[in-house]
Amino acid sequence: MIGGSNLPNAQGYYGEFGGRFVPETIIPALDELLHAYEEAMADPAFHAELAHLQQTYVGRPTPLTYAKRLSDHLGGARIYLKREDLAHTGAHKINNALGQALLAKRMGKRRVIAETGAGQHGVASATASALLGLECHVYMGSVDMARQRPNVFRMKLMGAEVLAVDSGSKTLKDAINEAMRDWVTNVRTTFYLLGSALGPHPYPMIVRDFQSVIGVEARRQILEATGQLPDVCLACVGGGSNAIGLFHAFRDDESVELIGVEAGGLGTHTDKHAARFANMDISRPGILHGTRSFIMQDEDGQIRETHSISAGLDYPSIGPEHAYLRASERAYYTSATDEEALAAFRTLSELEGIIPALESAHAIAEVIKRAPTMSKDSILLVNLSGRGDKDLDTVIRVLGDKL
Ligand SMILES: *Cc1c(COP(=O)(O)O)cnc(C)c1O
Repeated sequence: MIGGSNLPNAQGYYGEFGGRFVPETIIPALDELLHAYEEAMADPAFHAELAHLQQTYVGRPTPLTYAKRLSDHLGGARIYLKREDLAHTGAHKINNALGQALLAKRMGKRRVIAETGAGQHGVASATASALLGLECHVYMGSVDMARQRPNVFRMKLMGAEVLAVDSGSKTLKDAINEAMRDWVTNVRTTFYLLGSALGPHPYPMIVRDFQSVIGVEARRQILEATGQLPDVCLACVGGGSNAIGLFHAFRDDESVELIGVEAGGLGTHTDKHAARFANMDISRPGILHGTRSFIMQDEDGQIRETHSISAGLDYPSIGPEHAYLRASERAYYTSATDEEALAAFRTLSELEGIIPALESAHAIAEVIKRAPTMSKDSILLVNLSGRGDKDLDTVIRVLGDKL
């Protein structure tokens, strides 16, 4: 079931995190979105259309795969992979993009805007817009466009307009600023399709609910396959959408440990990482892009440059519900370094014939550390958020002759 949680509260807070920190001009648009969302959630026809497209277009339910050779190799917990890599476009992002695009259509907004860093959310937005006949404009920093050319072409092929952003560092945060500006100006005709469990209320809730299909399916599938709940659910955390999508269905299962894995980059003792929960000297609660959460910032509140080998985890803030789950000790967060993720990338490829996204490889890195410490009758469920084809250039550059 989508929805059904008692958080956020009416003001959009998860404990002391979340909320709405936006210019006055955007408040009516957020209210309109919330209202339309609540109406859609109460309408069986909306659920039916979404379920139909999830099944016939996205390819849901995605399978749950028992990773036997990896489990045997590590000699501890039985490891199950939730296969979001097999969803159309090769990652979980389509779940949210499709849900929000349907909402845009329902609201009568034919123009969709999005921002993207690595291009994955731009591709998902362009895909869903093409499917539903919506006009799609994607803001992208010009530096990111040069780094992610294949995704720029994918978006254009699907009829989206990619708008180069040349201000600031010409990367994601500048693209977000431009998208916000566009939304303020064109709010009557335009739907802002936000890509992770971030931003002002109600976005973190909407994204969570559209991604919760991951956990709902996985919970049913693991019970079918093993007759028991997992001991541990594990996922990588960028903005936090695939992780919250997995965790949400298990939040009331007290026996299930929830673990998020952030990008440890060159190590959390350095400042070259994106582990927002790892080092309180360089990360603390603050406000970024409309929401209150943990943010990598310096003493003066300037946002820090982050680093990760995986573009999807390389973001200075984290979804507010994760900050809450951590504060309430319902979930636990750790990190994997670039090197550990690369090793996990190779291990999963060799032992299971599955090349994971570098983001997902961070989750696998934690599996490699943790599974051997668990008993043989325990179960570890890990979300494989995406496939690794998009990362081959990066991996070849780093590993080169070692392959
Ligand atoms: C974008 C992305 C992520 C990180 O985003 P979340 O919102 O934290 O899920 C993880 N994995 C893949 C494959 C991605 O494309």
